[in-house]
Amino acid sequence: MSQKTHIAQTEPFRWEDVPVLAYKEDGGTHFRSITRQVLFDDGDAAGSQLRYFEIAPGGHSTLERHDHIHSVMVLRGCGQALVGREIHALQANDLVRVPPQTWHQFRATAGEPLGFLCVVRTERDKPRLPTVAELAELRADGRIGPFVRA
Ligand code: MN
Repeated sequence: MSQKTHIAQTEPFRWEDVPVLAYKEDGGTHFRSITRQVLFDDGDAAGSQLRYFEIAPGGHSTLERHDHIHSVMVLRGCGQALVGREIHALQANDLVRVPPQTWHQFRATAGEPLGFLCVVRTERDKPRLPTVAELAELRADGRIGPFVRA
């Protein structure tokens, strides 16, 4: 990861020498149509990373939880975020905080991609997916059941 002090945008939501990566290297079936760009990486375990994710129209991120926190800012598009037991409508410049061990999932509306910045600690635990029992319990909750995809 470069330690450059300035990285120019090359086209909308793309930056010089920042590769556009698959969402998660290990593959999986719990998400759809997402790219990931690591914009900053402090390079030490005590530091943080700033990533830019883009979910294709109608796509969604993994339904997961973990110890580390997400601090998110929406840059483009519209969508929704499940955080805990609530679903929030999202638009550009909205902020979302995902507390520790809180179920979360982001979804883009059908019409356009949802792009957002997300800050995480460099050293962080692996996301955990819901068990069959946990998924059944989430789906049984009328507030969020119809929203969750897994
Ligand atoms: Mn997460």
